[in-house]
Amino acid sequence: MLEQGYPVDRIDTGTAHSARVYDYILGGKDHYAVDREAGDVMCEEWPALPVHMRANRKFMHRAARYLAREEGIGQFLDIGTGLPTSPNLHEVVQQVRPDARAVYVDNDPIVLTHARALLTGSAEGRTAYVDADMRDPEAIIGSGQFQELLDLRQPVGLMIIGILHFILPPDDHSLVRRLLEPLPAGSFLAMTIGTADFAPREVNRVADEYARRGMPMKLRTKAEAEALFEGLDLVGPGLTQVHHWRPDADQERVDDRDIAMYGAVARKN
Ligand code: SAH
Repeated sequence: MLEQGYPVDRIDTGTAHSARVYDYILGGKDHYAVDREAGDVMCEEWPALPVHMRANRKFMHRAARYLAREEGIGQFLDIGTGLPTSPNLHEVVQQVRPDARAVYVDNDPIVLTHARALLTGSAEGRTAYVDADMRDPEAIIGSGQFQELLDLRQPVGLMIIGILHFILPPDDHSLVRRLLEPLPAGSFLAMTIGTADFAPREVNRVADEYARRGMPMKLRTKAEAEALFEGLDLVGPGLTQVHHWRPDADQERVDDRDIAMYGAVARKN
């Protein structure tokens, strides 16, 4: 069976998937009954979940814009892209640099079926999509899309946003390192990391709901989150809750207890 030219027989409509739950809570339209049931239960456990997810998405926008505008980054590798949600990464950075390129990576077949919506953008820019798992970095680095679109003589922005809580220790550190390894000095890592530091009871209950549906999660303390950036130079203000990282003047005001995500941007030397 084909949908938008891609095989859809890998799509499991009987089990909730993180990309679709996220899409549902963000107000998207690409989800099934199981995802809506999961999202509704999670929002009952923690009504701030939509606020938290929106703040994560907004961090991605600000971090990407910062890298394109302030650091001159013109090519991006985005791990755990999610379903297309406007503006997508390439749209954000092509507003600053019309020739910016983005390689998108996700392991969810439904994201693959919608990848065409990511393969658009400015005439000068380019995007590509890799159907791969972050736990298999060789498949990402060895892909034709990575090899063709990213010029490894120039710095790259590695984006790992809203996915690391699904990457369990002890592999988390080494997987992030492995993805940074081929990128030249002057490249950047922008990453968000789930935490239960601010609303422990509620956020742990949401994590239990993900785990019950086959998506075990690792929430990290501030020290654990910071350790993931070891050896890199954090740009100001360092690791903060995502809504405190270089906020826009007109940003939605939120309570710290409603945000279960740390974020930071760091330079590789
Ligand atoms: N980065 C986007 C989407 C986050 S939702 C944003 O922040 O807005 C998390 C995404 O990570 C989902 O699309 C899910 O399919 C993907 N994902 C989860 N585990 C993954 C893995 N091991 N490899 C690749 N993608 C993964």
